[in-house]
Amino acid sequence: MEKHLIIGASDAGISAALRIKEIRPDSAVKVIDADYYPNFSICGLPFLISSEVSDWRKLAHRTIPEIEKNGIQLLLGKKIKFINPQKRIIAYAEQNGAFSELIYDRLLLATGGISLIPQIKGVENEGVFFLRWIGDGLKIQKYLSQHQVKSAAVIGGGYIGMEMADALVKRGIQVTVLEYAPSVLTTLDAELASYIKKELEKNDVIVKTHHEVKEIIRSNNGLFIINKRGENLSADLVIVAAGVKPNISIAATAGVALGISGAINVDRQMKTNLPDIYAAGDCAETWHRIVRKNVYLPLGSTSHKQGRIAGENMAGGDAGYEGSLGTQVVAVFNAVAAKTGLRETEAASAGFMPATAQCAAWDHKVYYPDARQIIIRITGDRQTGKLLGAQMVGHRSSQVAKRIDVLAAALYHGMKVADIDKLDLSYTPPLSTPWDPVQMAAHAWVKEYCSNSL
Ligand SMILES: Cc1cc2nc3c(=O)[nH]c(=O)nc-3n(C[C@H](O)[C@H](O)[C@H](O)COP(=O)(O)OP(=O)(O)OC[C@H]3O[C@@H](n4cnc5c(N)ncnc54)[C@H](O)[C@@H]3O)c2cc1C
Repeated sequence: MEKHLIIGASDAGISAALRIKEIRPDSAVKVIDADYYPNFSICGLPFLISSEVSDWRKLAHRTIPEIEKNGIQLLLGKKIKFINPQKRIIAYAEQNGAFSELIYDRLLLATGGISLIPQIKGVENEGVFFLRWIGDGLKIQKYLSQHQVKSAAVIGGGYIGMEMADALVKRGIQVTVLEYAPSVLTTLDAELASYIKKELEKNDVIVKTHHEVKEIIRSNNGLFIINKRGENLSADLVIVAAGVKPNISIAATAGVALGISGAINVDRQMKTNLPDIYAAGDCAETWHRIVRKNVYLPLGSTSHKQGRIAGENMAGGDAGYEGSLGTQVVAVFNAVAAKTGLRETEAASAGFMPATAQCAAWDHKVYYPDARQIIIRITGDRQTGKLLGAQMVGHRSSQVAKRIDVLAAALYHGMKVADIDKLDLSYTPPLSTPWDPVQMAAHAWVKEYCSNSL
């Protein structure tokens, strides 16, 4: 019986395990994890902290019995210490410190990501939290229930910082977001990111950009967050959301090759440089469909897909990962921001001849109540006319996620911007317009950059 071993019981690891069992029900599949929360949606943590999700157990994609029902053996609370690829052995530490070994025929590294710890003194202080694991979320919940938290600082204006600002406001806490870049959500062009900043401010969040935190001091009066200019801000709680990095230490020690991003270098079958060792999810790089090379884009959506491809190939298949576009969406209070593909600057550095057009279009017919404008930016290639990427912001009711996904599908298929016009998209006055906003945005691009558009 083939022995499949998977390190990491989160999105990538469990997706792979399920796929192996679908294809080869007779094989032995063991998933081993240092933690005790297999297959939980860490993406849901901000909504647990906001209290929109009432119980942490509800964040499980699948319960332990549901996973085991598929014939998958879970080994929890066991931290892998090293891999010996020559002997095909992994060694892990039991809770009592004793070492045990397991042998494998095929191994998947699905060790995920870890919070980036910025160069800030005092991040280890009581009341300062990172948010990566279910355990982190539970610690924040406990702290909020045991302390009178009236104010919080969120260090980092990325999507997790935005979600946490929203969550803490929903808990009745005064929130300040501290971001060292000139805008929040730097994955978007500044014009669109400013829409999200306004939404934060509308909800009484103080946003300080160009604000580089250097130190957090704890005193009897709470936490003091000091920036590079020596300015001082007090808060009862601090969330550090400074980004993620790949968790690669055991892989690197075993001789698994890393890519230039520092994550595990994989081919499109999710194979590493070592025989019968695969990698997937936040520990690995991902093939970018537009720039046609590996990049680091740690996302839950990508991890599930990569895990499934790895599982299929571990089970003897020949699946190839079709590539990431970096499609992502975030809801911040009543605003939604989304993107897919490349922005103009990214496209230019990838060697394209990009041009961008912006358009504000109604999300549905204006005569029907509550029509709102979505702002859409389309980036296309001047030479080929092909779509390269899109960004949009709009109201939560404006189906921004559906609309970015239309453009993500167009991008996947290498469509020209002019051809978005031809898509047969749905229309009813309360939900759309005869030309959907994404088509209006495509029209704007064609009008501006295609000389024969008339
Ligand atoms: C707050 C938050 C919100 C997010 N929201 C979104 C979102 O809205 N959309 C989206 O697409 N993505 C989102 N993400 C990102 C997404 O959650 C990750 O991309 C995804 O969970 C990665 O899955 P993974 O399986 O690669 O690894 P991880 O989820 O990082 O899991 C890795 C597992 O490996 C285990 N492990 C690591 N080292 C060892 C070892 N030595 N021994 C044993 N076990 C080990 C860990 O215990 C862990 O369980 C969010 C992330 C966070 C933190």
